[in-house]
Amino acid sequence: MNVFIELGYLGAALSFILGLKLMSSPKRAQTGILVAAIGMFLAISCTLIAVYSFEVPSVNVLIIISALILGIWGGQRMAVQVEMTAMPQLVSLFNATGGGCAMLLGLIEMHTWESVVLSQGTAYQLLLLIGSLTGAIAFTGSIVAYLKLAGKIKDVHQTTYTILARVFIVIIFGSCLLFYLGFIPISISVFTYSVIGLSFVYGVLFVLPIGGADMPVVISLLNAITGIATALAGFMQENKAMIAGGIFVGAAGLLLTLLMCKAMNRSLVNVLAGHFNKTTNPGEDTPQTIQETSVAETITQLSFAQKIGVIPGYGMAIAQAQHECYQLQKVLEAQDKSIDYIIHPVAGRMPGHMNVLLAEAKIDYDYLKEMDSVNTLMETYDMLLVIGANDVVNPAAETNTASPIYGMPIIKAYQSKKIIVMKRGMSTGYAGIQNELFEKENCRLLFGDAKKSLQEIVSQMKMMN
Ligand code: NDP
Repeated sequence: MNVFIELGYLGAALSFILGLKLMSSPKRAQTGILVAAIGMFLAISCTLIAVYSFEVPSVNVLIIISALILGIWGGQRMAVQVEMTAMPQLVSLFNATGGGCAMLLGLIEMHTWESVVLSQGTAYQLLLLIGSLTGAIAFTGSIVAYLKLAGKIKDVHQTTYTILARVFIVIIFGSCLLFYLGFIPISISVFTYSVIGLSFVYGVLFVLPIGGADMPVVISLLNAITGIATALAGFMQENKAMIAGGIFVGAAGLLLTLLMCKAMNRSLVNVLAGHFNKTTNPGEDTPQTIQETSVAETITQLSFAQKIGVIPGYGMAIAQAQHECYQLQKVLEAQDKSIDYIIHPVAGRMPGHMNVLLAEAKIDYDYLKEMDSVNTLMETYDMLLVIGANDVVNPAAETNTASPIYGMPIIKAYQSKKIIVMKRGMSTGYAGIQNELFEKENCRLLFGDAKKSLQEIVSQMKMMN
């Protein structure tokens, strides 16, 4: 029986790998999710078979089955009801449950070691301790992240929290080291409960001062921490599927965090230290010299253009203008014009934000171009429509060393022949800085809500056709 269970776990681990591989392409992502879900089903089935074959007391079986029913019912309800825009909140909640489970597993194992002092310890005990405290950090951190994203608690931009968080992390890791070296002669369970308590507080202090717009980076980091805690719990349980699943989540979360940091021009050290404050640039209040345009002029410019690029940003998400983008695409294609959507990796407020919105409007993935693949071709675009994007097209990232976004890779929109930026006023984007693009000779600003502006453009163009 044991051989079958081990083979089942191996099959589950392989399904996770294959699922992840398939998820790397938007076209095969759905199949990837299905394959990974089959892997998870296999892992749960093997665990149930293991429970059966180890003759676990019937009350435990009842608890396991009740937990499964509750989990399936709750998970299914949440996944079906969630709005696309509320996805980060849901991810945070799932993260919290993952972290909490890893912590509980650590605590359960702890009782088998009650009489042992860690100074006589083994690598196993260290794994157990680190797994429990990372799980605890991910648990409270993710709950705070969820509450912030859901607007249930407000941003608290106070450096006191950041400083306190640093003090706590030093205490946590310092005491772990001292304990491991035998300088704190208490039982492992007393020590673990204390350090888990501190980790709960650290999780709250770590996430609390971080601004709402920065949460995606933190969620991704918490995701990685949950993965690590799960993998460590897997080592304790000697469960291959858990080890593999945890490592995948940990590695994917960490890679995503690093990629986002790179695309936002932040260092991971700054993220870990809680440095999320925005810098402001002196002279930001000076009015900019810009050229305004109208819907009629935009239509005229579109009629002259053959190759058109759309650069969507956070403002498109706010305006929910993705369906109007698709309408415009159809009108332009009817006139034999070519259209691309140029996507910056951190456009919007979460990874893949723009891709998800455009997919929701049934825009085919073939139309989506990554920033790096089109930046060298910018001069070939007759016209660019920048729809609610700001920071991701700001040339200050290349030219102004004093700018907080200096060094962040941008879409080189300024190199195209004509640019029309749709926004409501002269407000800044997420980085809180003026956009040098707006002052360029080839740039015009079309003021108004992006959805309304696009609706007017599409309806007038349809009438003209
Ligand atoms: P920005 O936040 O730079 O700019 C958004 C623009 O949209 C603003 O200029 C705003 O101007 C405009 N806008 C808002 N509402 C509307 C509306 N209804 N109609 C038209 N325009 C509107 O967005 P970008 O996408 O360019 O940049 C994303 C920023 O977010 C980057 O700095 C990135 O680092 C950061 N970020 C991204 C994350 C991610 O994972 N994607 C995570 C965390 C941060 P106005 O108010 O005048 O209309």
